[in-house]
Amino acid sequence: MKIADVSLQHFRYRSRTVRDEHGHGHPGEEHDATQALLTVTTDDGARGHYLGGVERGVVEHVVKPMLVGEDPFYHQRIWRALSERQRLNLAALPDRVLTAVDLALWDLVGNVVGQPVHRLLGATRDTVPAYASTMVADDLPGGLDCPESFASYATWCVRERGYPAFKLHTWQPPLPGAPSVKRDLAACAAVREALGPDVPLMLDPYHYYSRLDALELARGLEGLHFLWMEEPMDEHSMSSYVWLCEQTSLPICGPETAEGKMYARAEWIKAGACDMLRGGVGDVGGITPLIKIAHLAESFGMHMEVHGGGVGNLHVLCAMATPGLYYERGLLHPFIDYDATPAWLNSPVDPMDAEGNVHVSTGPGLGMDLNMDYIRENII
Ligand code: MG
Repeated sequence: MKIADVSLQHFRYRSRTVRDEHGHGHPGEEHDATQALLTVTTDDGARGHYLGGVERGVVEHVVKPMLVGEDPFYHQRIWRALSERQRLNLAALPDRVLTAVDLALWDLVGNVVGQPVHRLLGATRDTVPAYASTMVADDLPGGLDCPESFASYATWCVRERGYPAFKLHTWQPPLPGAPSVKRDLAACAAVREALGPDVPLMLDPYHYYSRLDALELARGLEGLHFLWMEEPMDEHSMSSYVWLCEQTSLPICGPETAEGKMYARAEWIKAGACDMLRGGVGDVGGITPLIKIAHLAESFGMHMEVHGGGVGNLHVLCAMATPGLYYERGLLHPFIDYDATPAWLNSPVDPMDAEGNVHVSTGPGLGMDLNMDYIRENII
């Protein structure tokens, strides 16, 4: 079996998420948006898919020439070859391209053998508890505009929808008055007050606070018994995270957006720059490196908390021997119905039951139930 083709299709859909100038998503007017579907096809007609942003140029000029003629089961060799091509070429071949190729190949081999990816990785479970992960805070009345709004939304998520845990993304530029340690802590305190002492809570604040701001936040969260804080400072300064970890009992979870795949995570563990390890398929270049990071965390007796949702992350979470505590479900907002199935799918990729457990697909591959009629009708 050999890879015969790699193709990319863009299709149109209606979105209600708008992006501010810093790239954060917020609820807004419905508008046209585009989605990309990467398809890898073998000479006997087997297919693997990935949904997400990759550019046509890199697919045509780098990915396709490297993949065509390869055996799709040798996807670790393919991943390695792609990552070696990144040297001096990171702008044209970022990790998200490796993610797209890697997930499409895992989907393909799962489809060929008729098994879900988490079983191919060595499964540990079929469900994962989720936490409600909010959009970045805003100034929309009744949205996520003040500590009281966070408290009432957290109460709905936990008491009504069944999420066992809740994570705040607080106010960030370009919103006036953001960032503010005082306001972040007020929102965290309001949520703790509303939910009582037993619900696990996490904070993801502004990512460029100073050391002293991050320590002030950490000290405040110690008193509120938060489960972790992630990325309060620029992750390129690993020394700042060592400095923070040495001074707070609050667990620090990272690195999340730092480049460097499993190599950077190993360095953070060695330096004592985090208490819980972090990474997601989109941060590190796919399932192939993320499962290595999960094994790395296990070998050091650490939890790895997976960054972001989606099928790739869900399958890895179901194949970790030291289980990640939660699946990150979101991003959520009072004005958006996250549980609604996207138009390009026949069923959601991360269905959550009333107890707050997300169920991984037990169908072959990644288990995305694509609505190919919708995709065909909306091809650009
Ligand atoms: Mg984060």
